[in-house]
Amino acid sequence: MAPVSPAEYDALAARLRRAGCVWAEDETQLLVEAADGAEALAALVDRRVAGEPLEYLLGWAEFCGERIGVDPGVFVPRSRTALLVAAAARVTGPAAAVVELCCGSGAVSRALSRRLAAPRLLAAVDLDPAAVACARRNLATVGVPVLAGDLFDPLPANWRGGLDLVVANAPYVPTAAMALLPPEARRYESAAALDGGPDGLAVLRRLAAAAPGWLAPGGHLVVEIGEAQVDEFRTVLSEAGLVPTVVRDDALGATAMTAHRPAAVAGRRYEN
Ligand code: GLN
Repeated sequence: MAPVSPAEYDALAARLRRAGCVWAEDETQLLVEAADGAEALAALVDRRVAGEPLEYLLGWAEFCGERIGVDPGVFVPRSRTALLVAAAARVTGPAAAVVELCCGSGAVSRALSRRLAAPRLLAAVDLDPAAVACARRNLATVGVPVLAGDLFDPLPANWRGGLDLVVANAPYVPTAAMALLPPEARRYESAAALDGGPDGLAVLRRLAAAAPGWLAPGGHLVVEIGEAQVDEFRTVLSEAGLVPTVVRDDALGATAMTAHRPAAVAGRRYEN
């Protein structure tokens, strides 16, 4: 906590407001708490004025009611992703075998560790070494191993057909829309965490194609998605043999899709 007089505090808040920070008072308070002296505080405020995301300066983001550590470049958990957590929790029974892909900071696994009944959180996976290191710190206390690699690649083969929940906030921003993201995301977050290729569905298509092989009968894939992508991705999921459902939360501005592997069809195909 940096020592600041009321006048200095007001001056800092005014500077942040001029730089475009809508919640300037709140941000001032958080930066004052985070800095261990006047010089450190001045440096943090300079970086914030230059546009660096508040979460990287603090080293944490608030997600589903708790503080999650975030390192520079690692995707900052968004409040809208609470819908992904709620949708996953709604379709998942007790003692479920759970894997999170594209885990970033591991925020979703952490939230699920509190929301699910006796979950077996088998692993969280990310391609980006910075995300893997960050998630390892966030998930150590809830006992979730974090693996480095692309989607299902780093998982042991004997998990195939046994997962009750595969949850992912994969990148889904269409490449052309990357330029329209807020500068904080565009300039400071890893593009790989956001850019979903020409129509935003490049990673989600690969995920949908591979998921049926890893899900247990009746198991669910649950993903966040852009509202404009719902119709196309519903078709992708159906063609992969999954049964999709759309979940929306207008207050959060969020859309998610849950898709389950039908329990009966796989068996019947071989019996007939
Ligand atoms: N910018 C989007 C968001 O804030 C993108 C998230 C993503 O690609 N997973 O939710």
